[in-house]
Amino acid sequence: MRVVCPGSFDPVTNGHLDIITRSARMHQEVVVAVLRNPSKSALFTADERVEMLREVTADQPNVRVAKFNGLIVDFCRANEISAIVKGLRAVSDFDYEMQMAQMNYSQAGVETLFMTTNPLYAFLSSSLVKEFARYGGDVAGLVPASVLHRLADRLAVSDPAAH
Ligand code: ADP
Repeated sequence: MRVVCPGSFDPVTNGHLDIITRSARMHQEVVVAVLRNPSKSALFTADERVEMLREVTADQPNVRVAKFNGLIVDFCRANEISAIVKGLRAVSDFDYEMQMAQMNYSQAGVETLFMTTNPLYAFLSSSLVKEFARYGGDVAGLVPASVLHRLADRLAVSDPAAH
C-alpha cells in the first residue's frame, strides 16, 4: 500500500523520522508530503524542508518526498494514496486528529492510520525544537545531525542577538 505522512516539517525532527521509518517498514511506499504554506510562519522554505527530509531518508528507498498545497485528500487522490499515517503524541493530539480523520474519510474515503509515538519523542515538536534552539538550548538528539547544522546557521542569521 502507498501511504502518506503529511506535515510542515519545519524542520524534520527525530519524532517525524521515527514515524516515517516505521511506516516504511510496513508499507510498500511512503510519500512524505510537505505542506507548502503552513499557517504558522516557517523558519525554512518548503524547498529547504524537502531537501532536509530527502537527506535524512536517503537510506530508505521506498520513501519519497514531495510538496503539497491545499487538501491532503486531493493530494491522495492525485497520487493514488489510500491512507494517511499520523503519529499520536499525547491525548491532546487525539480529538483533533480523530475529527480530521473522520472528515477525510467522509469526504474522500481516505483512511487514516495512527501510530503511537516512540516514548523517546513524545514531547517533541518542531516548534519546541525551534524555540529551544533559538534561546541556546541543546537540541542535539532531537533532530538529525544535518538538521542541527542548518538550524544553527539559520538561527544565527535570523536572530544574531541570540548568539
Ligand atoms: P509539528 O510542528 O507539531 O512537529 P508537523 O505538522 O510537522 O508538526 O507534524 C506532522 C505530523 O507528524 C503530525 O501530525 C504528527 O502526526 C507527526 N509528529 C510530529 N511530531 C511527532 C512526534 N514527536 N512523534 C510522533 N509523531 C509526530
